[in-house]
Order: sequence, then C-alpha cells, then structure tokens
Amino acid sequence: MAETLALRGGTPVRTMLLPYAHQSIDEDDVQAVVAALRSDWLTTGPAVEAFERAVASAVESRHAVAVNSGTAALHAAVFAAGIGPGDEVVTSPLTFAASANAVLYLGGTPLFADVRPDTLNVDPAEVEARVTRKTRAILPVDFAGQPCDLDALGRVAHARGLNMIEDAAHALGATHKGRPVGAIADLTTFSFHPVKLITTGEGGVVTTNRDDLAARLRRFRNHGLETDFRERTALGMPYSPMVDLGYNYRLSDLQCALGISQLSKLEPLLKRRAAIAERYVAALVEMELVKVPAVLPDCRHAWHIFPILLETQRLAAPRDTVLAALRAEGIGATVHYVPVYWHPYYERLGYPRGLCPRAEAAYERLLTLPLFPAMTNADVDDVLTALRKVLGYYAR
Ligand SMILES: *Cc1c(COP(=O)(O)O)cnc(C)c1O
Repeated sequence: MAETLALRGGTPVRTMLLPYAHQSIDEDDVQAVVAALRSDWLTTGPAVEAFERAVASAVESRHAVAVNSGTAALHAAVFAAGIGPGDEVVTSPLTFAASANAVLYLGGTPLFADVRPDTLNVDPAEVEARVTRKTRAILPVDFAGQPCDLDALGRVAHARGLNMIEDAAHALGATHKGRPVGAIADLTTFSFHPVKLITTGEGGVVTTNRDDLAARLRRFRNHGLETDFRERTALGMPYSPMVDLGYNYRLSDLQCALGISQLSKLEPLLKRRAAIAERYVAALVEMELVKVPAVLPDCRHAWHIFPILLETQRLAAPRDTVLAALRAEGIGATVHYVPVYWHPYYERLGYPRGLCPRAEAAYERLLTLPLFPAMTNADVDDVLTALRKVLGYYAR
C-alpha cells in the first residue's frame, strides 16, 4: 500500500521545511564582526586586505580583489577582460542569469554553448563551435561545484587569444587535476552569498595571476579611481584621478572580517558537504528513477548544490509536480537552472528556444536536493524517504 502524498492530504515526511541551502555561522564569526565594529575601519580598511590575502592564498592565485557580490565580481572580470560593444563572450546556458548579464552590462553579446550531458558543464567542443571573429572571451561556469574541463577550455581560449573568465560561484575550494580553481583561468569569480560555500552576507571576489588585470579590477570596484582612500591619505593627495568608469563595488571591513573567519573553516565545511553528497549518492544509485550527474575522477567537487536528473519518461508526472510533491513533504527542493536564454528578457533580445538542446532537455529533468553543512544524516534520510515516497507514487 503506497502512502498518501502530503500533496494529496497525507502526512508529510517533515513538518518544518528543510531548506535547500543555509549558511553556517558560529560564535567566532559573530565575534569577528563585533571586533571589526569596534575598530577604526568599517569599510576599506585592513580587513579587506587581509581577506584578499587569505583568499589568494587559499586558491593559490597572485591576486584577489574583493567586491560586494558575485555579480559585481563577474561585472568587474568582464570589464577587466576588455569586453565592450560588439564583443562576444561564450558562456553556459545552465547558470544563474548573472553570468551572462555581466556581458550585457558592458554592451557585449553572450553566446550560449551547450553542456556535456554527463556533468552538465559547458562542452569545450560546443564552445569552440560558437567562437567567431567577434569572440573576445569564454565564460565557463563550474556547475554545482564541479570544475569544468579547464584544460580543454583553456586550449580553445588561448589558441585564439581569448581570455577565460571562470564563474566559480559554486566552486570555492574545488580543484582540477590538483590545481585549485581560482589559479587556472585568466580571471575567476566567486560569490559569498549566504547559500554559497562561505558567506560575507553579500560579497564576491575575483582572482587572477595577472598584475594588469588586478589593477583594472581594483579601479573598477572603486569608481575607476587610481588610488583608494587609504593610499590617498598616506600620499597626501588632494584627489585621486578617475581613469575608468567604475562603480562603488567595495566590500566592507565588517564583511571581510566575517569572510576571514568563514574562510578559516572552508576545509571542514567542504568535507561535511562531500560526506552528505556521498550519503546521497550511495542511496540514489539504488533508485532507478533518478540519475546523478557524473563526478569526474580528476577533480575535487565543492558540492555547492546536489542536482539530480529524474527519469521523467518513466514518471506519470512532470518535474514540476515532483517538485511540488517534495515541497509538500517538507523538503525544500528547487531547480538549478532554467536555461538563461529562456528568461523573458533574453527572449526579447531574440535568443530562440532550441539553441542548446542538451541543456534544455536537462532542465526538464533537473531537481536540486537540500545540501548544506549543518544538515544531519537524519535530514539527508528524510530527503531520501520523501523522494522514494514521491517517485514511488508517480512511477509508471
Ligand atoms: C550566486 C551566483 C552568482 C551571483 O552571485 P551573487 O553574489 O548572488 O551576486 C553568479 N553566478 C553563479 C553561477 C551563481 O551561483
């Protein structure tokens, strides 16, 4: 006898909704922010530099430039790469809109290359096929926290003199063939939004090994000014020349104090994420109606999210019904991502459906299960119980 779904009036697996993501804030994080509040600097003080040094050291990059969101990091990186009107940038359709929006901000044109069906990361052969004379950069996204094929993508980019900008909002702490994400691409962007691997409330960073790009990033986040307030004060300058059209994208000392404290715990946070992912994978291999995207052997996956693919042709209901049924069971499942060019804004720009058939087919089957370090094994088992209950009900 199948149990009645909560969606149809049955008893839910959980009464309180388990979110798909949640920050991990400890007492030492709170104390770090309190100490910053008591200091002389609330913004652009010593904590910013210290956080940047800590990030650069964690990802083995020469420079890290902190900004106030992952979106600002993408905007700054696309600016630093010199993208302007008429320039094309090839990116993935299976990402948050911000990856492609950053290209639009600067008057460039995002082109979408299809994903690999196994990992759902952008396919280097598809990227290569999209490149034209107008292409100036490629912008791969490390989906779910698994690094893209960075060697192959780097070859595509560098054979044509293109910059590689890696959107690693999901992949802080990930590695590719033993090298940390953040040290490989020309520019790598990270996000410190609360759902991400570590948080500063809102925040982001761009890492690069190139001095020229780092200088452009630093100006861009501070109105395009050549010097910041502390440098100007130290030099006794009356004003700083504005040489680029930049923004106020500064990350505050308060936030960087939190970032330093959070970053010191990255390793245990990643280990707990990997343990949860392992528990999911061990149970899901037994479930015929679910496939887990491939995890490649030469990478360390950061497990920002845990996406699964439903075998929808063997279900009597579409993905959205399965999603609603899981939520009724108290499981805060969600979907990453609708293909970027399906958004109404992109449709209005003229992007047609059917551009990236694999990404579109994956979207119809994708579901993200809850994954965050504070989840207990019992929480993971609740998710699996609810998934078995719901898929058992809709199985053909
Ligand atoms: C979160 C995210 C961003 C944007 O980061 P914010 O800090 O929210 O601005 C960009 N790209 C991807 C892939 C993301 O997941």
